[in-house]
Amino acid sequence: MSKDGTPKVVPAKKPGRFLVRYSEADLPTARGVFHAIVFRDRRDGAEHVALVVGQVEGGEAVPVRIHSECLTGEVFGSLKCDCRQQLERAMEMMSQSQRGVILYLRQEGRGIGLGNKIKAYALQAKGMDTYEANRELGFPDDLRRYDVAAEMLRMLGVLSVDLVTNNPLKIAGLVDEGIPVHRRIPARTNPNPHNADYLKTKRERSGHLIEIVQGDDESKAS
Ligand SMILES: [Zn+2]
Repeated sequence: MSKDGTPKVVPAKKPGRFLVRYSEADLPTARGVFHAIVFRDRRDGAEHVALVVGQVEGGEAVPVRIHSECLTGEVFGSLKCDCRQQLERAMEMMSQSQRGVILYLRQEGRGIGLGNKIKAYALQAKGMDTYEANRELGFPDDLRRYDVAAEMLRMLGVLSVDLVTNNPLKIAGLVDEGIPVHRRIPARTNPNPHNADYLKTKRERSGHLIEIVQGDDESKAS
């Protein structure tokens, strides 16, 4: 019920335009139990995952992190980026607050794919920064699409979000796709000698609002 006593209208979960809600199950992890929901994209067969904690259907200001797959960082522990840290932090945050959604999108290397990402790393080893390398390979700065994230949120019945990000493009991307962003929650990150340049470039070249945590400051990062 809303404040004036009239029944609150909760929109029914909408069918997807191009996604299919394919399968779901609880997934116990080191950071708590997440409800994993797989969405299949009918256009390209990609399987994207929503990790959901708590009740989010019909929810306003639901904490949401949009995370792009990063095999090198998340599986191999590459120090060239901060993806693993960001994902783990987001899982901890959602688990602690017992409410939230992590949208794990299968778009490696900002959408250029794994093979091209490694090509870009080879160019970076010759002195290019991440954006110069992508351009050298003929890719625009960022191929990530937000229509998938927006459709997943609509299908989950999320009405508006608190977005965990440093990237203003993500906010704009979601809003453009019709998902209201209530506020931004900064995602904090620890630099290391291998990703310091990457983080600096990200901040300077793409307008990322990166809040860098130094040393033992992690306890404050919740
Ligand atoms: Zn990464």
